[in-house]
Amino acid sequence: MDQPVRAAHSLRAEAAFRVHLEAAGARLLESRWLGNGVGHRVRCAAGHLCAPRPSNVQQGQGLCRTCARKDPLAAAAAFRERLAAAGARLLEPVWLGVHAPHRIRCAGGHETLRRPSAVRRSGWVCRRCPRPAAAALT
Ligand SMILES: [Zn+2]
Ligand SMILES: [Zn+2]
Repeated sequence: MDQPVRAAHSLRAEAAFRVHLEAAGARLLESRWLGNGVGHRVRCAAGHLCAPRPSNVQQGQGLCRTCARKDPLAAAAAFRERLAAAGARLLEPVWLGVHAPHRIRCAGGHETLRRPSAVRRSGWVCRRCPRPAAAALT
């Protein structure tokens, strides 16, 4: 029977999760441990309600998706990645924020202004190019 072993493992995982939450300034809202692979309701340091899985947190994933989206570095990196995937280039020398238009050059050579938030929503990098079929499906 491996039941005791599993219980000890689970206790360790719970302790690690609690330590991680405390370090991040977050509060666990669950009254009991639900398991390593189950989302636990948490109030993050910024006050967002989120439900991270302890196993994901252990692997270095952020606690709160709202915070992750608001993280300017992460948002800028995601925008660059999206442009690169579409063969486009960011011409704007500095990151202006997700809601500000950024100068880009698309794979078709158009120079255009795009808001990262709009590109993320539509998956459509350049409005002067045909809309990619893949983006229309998502
Ligand atoms: Zn948050
Ligand atoms: Zn274009």
